[in-house]
Amino acid sequence: MTPNLGAGWPAPVQPAPPALLRLGWDEGWHRLWQQAGLPGSLPARVMRTHRGRCVALGSVGETELVSDSQRSQAAVAPATGDWVLYSTDTDGSAVIDTVLDRRTSIVRRDPASRVVKQTLAANLDVAAVLHGLDRELNLAQVERFCVLAADSGAEILLVMSKADLLQARPERESVRRSLEESVPGVGIVETSSVMGKGLDQVRQAAAGNKTMVLLGPSGVGKSTLANALLGAQALAVGAQGAGATHTTVTRELVLLPEDGVLIDSPGLRAIGLWEADAALDEVFGDIAALGADCRFRDCTHRSEPDCAVVAAVHEGAVDFERLVRYQRLWSEIAEQSEAHAERVRMQSRGRRGRKPRRRVRRR
Ligand SMILES: [Zn+2]
Repeated sequence: MTPNLGAGWPAPVQPAPPALLRLGWDEGWHRLWQQAGLPGSLPARVMRTHRGRCVALGSVGETELVSDSQRSQAAVAPATGDWVLYSTDTDGSAVIDTVLDRRTSIVRRDPASRVVKQTLAANLDVAAVLHGLDRELNLAQVERFCVLAADSGAEILLVMSKADLLQARPERESVRRSLEESVPGVGIVETSSVMGKGLDQVRQAAAGNKTMVLLGPSGVGKSTLANALLGAQALAVGAQGAGATHTTVTRELVLLPEDGVLIDSPGLRAIGLWEADAALDEVFGDIAALGADCRFRDCTHRSEPDCAVVAAVHEGAVDFERLVRYQRLWSEIAEQSEAHAERVRMQSRGRRGRKPRRRVRRR
């Protein structure tokens, strides 16, 4: 259907300004802009947000934008990476009119609550999940970030960072094999920000003005990798000394030199999953596929008869610890989902404000 834009509606600038294209603007976004029916509005991409205000980058450079408080109750709160349309108010302030529909987003459980979700970043093409080679491989952690990445809708890239700190090649190969087994079919890159190793491969993943987000726990070298990718225009990195727990990031969305957009948000370190059951089955595709042959459709692969997954564990086809990690993530998602459903039920009964009854269901 072609939207009727009406008389007097000025056709948006054709072609789109290079600054927008550089930020990932394309025909699809252009169409949404036209369809929004907001004459005079300008598009910009959110670089960071803070309490109802955000800084966005558009064809006129960086602009501080205000979310319209009267309308923002019903509207979507902007997140880093969002495309917004804004216009200038009579008092000169730039106000967000609308947030364009997200293509992908990283959504987590609010750390302070099991029943509220938070969008941490939007419109990502590639989610790079980092594992630091200077530490023991924590597969549960890597898998958790991969489930989050798969749930966002972005393509996953595994990054073995700090390769300079694990010189022995057999050890690096062994880590690579474990990662390949844990998250099959995903690209893996080895990097060293110190030696400049693998940086071109990471940049290549963002080529074509794609947006890449860096995911991983504290200390895996996200900011150092971001700085290496950015070259001269570096992000602020926290002090490396003892007791330094915070890494200050002044900007969350930045343009990579020449091509690509990078999001390195401090919020992307502690992650509680939110309704990510489909993504869980994507990352644990082997277990999900076997589960189709279990006798019961809702088999928990624990003690049910004729369980194809347990049979595969006995045969050695599936690693028992991998099954346990899957079950843990599954339980976490189920508990969050149940708590959220409870809250929705209570709200619909008009008992808003009372805390949901604590319910722990184990699979
Ligand atoms: Zn089963």
